[in-house]
Amino acid sequence: MATAVSKTKWIEDELASLKEQGLFTNIRTIESPMDGWVTINGRRVLNFCANNYLGLANHPTIREAAKHAIDQYGVGPGAVRTIAGTMSLHTDLERRLAQFKGVEAAITFQSGFTANLATIPALVGKAGVIFSDRLNHASIIDGCRLSGAKIIAYEHNDPTDLRKKIGETPVEGRALIVTDGVFSMDGDIAPLPELYEVAEENGILLMVDDAHGEGVLGRGGRGIVDHFGLHGKVDIEVGTMSKAFGVVGGVVAGKQVIVDWLRQRGRPFLFSSAMTAPDVGACLAAIDLLEQSTDQVDQLWKNAEFFKNQMQAMGFDTGHSQTPIVPVMLGEAPLAQQFSRRLFDEGVFAMAIGYPTVPQDKARIRVMNTAAHSQDDLEQGLAAFEKVGRDLGVIK
Ligand code: PMP
Repeated sequence: MATAVSKTKWIEDELASLKEQGLFTNIRTIESPMDGWVTINGRRVLNFCANNYLGLANHPTIREAAKHAIDQYGVGPGAVRTIAGTMSLHTDLERRLAQFKGVEAAITFQSGFTANLATIPALVGKAGVIFSDRLNHASIIDGCRLSGAKIIAYEHNDPTDLRKKIGETPVEGRALIVTDGVFSMDGDIAPLPELYEVAEENGILLMVDDAHGEGVLGRGGRGIVDHFGLHGKVDIEVGTMSKAFGVVGGVVAGKQVIVDWLRQRGRPFLFSSAMTAPDVGACLAAIDLLEQSTDQVDQLWKNAEFFKNQMQAMGFDTGHSQTPIVPVMLGEAPLAQQFSRRLFDEGVFAMAIGYPTVPQDKARIRVMNTAAHSQDDLEQGLAAFEKVGRDLGVIK
């Protein structure tokens, strides 16, 4: 009798192949709160990986707010909001987010990912067409696919190509232009004013995913729409509370009518339970902090400018970032992985990022600057990059 081939053999082969190509992701275990420094394998290391831009993930005020929310509301939301009702805590957060962003209304989701999965299919159906930046985040791509609409990718950050592609496409049903605000792997910013012009010329809804702009761009971190002074012009702003806010959760902010529609038709809103009470309490405290002072946002930008300038002076290729995200371009994935391991030996946690998160030959180390880093931390990090860069022949 022939030996049966294991049903999971192909998965084992795929995993082995990922390892051979240097594309297998090893996830580090963190034994401490998320902060400028973290403990890994019992050792304190400098943390350049987290999207914890403002250092709020372990901020004392935010921790207290989460505990207080548990005391008042318990932990879980019980069921989806349309069935079990909505806690006043959640509606408070939505009201505060709308005020913070300067829009009519906001609706929260479990994550930024689900916010995109909810919004895009609710706005564009099978008969529709979506114009999507070629480098948009995976959650936007999945949201577009889920909608069943025709998807037209336009060249990255290129309003001229967008205009051309719209001209070539018969738009009869519903339509949407969608872009990341800050592109998370390169740190460049979408040309939102020009995209708005194209959207207006053609009467098409405009949506921006501000996951990396929230708490970073605009006055006191109010995001990309504020950064460009486009209030009332961008139809849909998606965001996340998992990055600058230091917590977790997604948000869609914009016109009341769009938020009302998402409460009726956003599937992750209708069929998946809401954020937990401590998450919501923590997010409310994050808004309080941002409204009280711009100190954290200012510190973030100061740190990022210093780090980026020093890296460039040493001869590293840091791409074309316009934000605190610093990609250190290395090319081949195995080199990026080796660089990351060597940095770790030097006490610096900075992950290598390779395909499919970035294109095949564009592997890199992505450094996330945060307000939680001191000048000493940055200098220590730079010294490690210099040593490893020299040893591996990346810089002279
Ligand atoms: N959109 C963009 C542009 C992102 O970078 C991310 C996070 N990587 C998300 C959405 C998803 O956010 P969350 O982690 O809250 O699901």
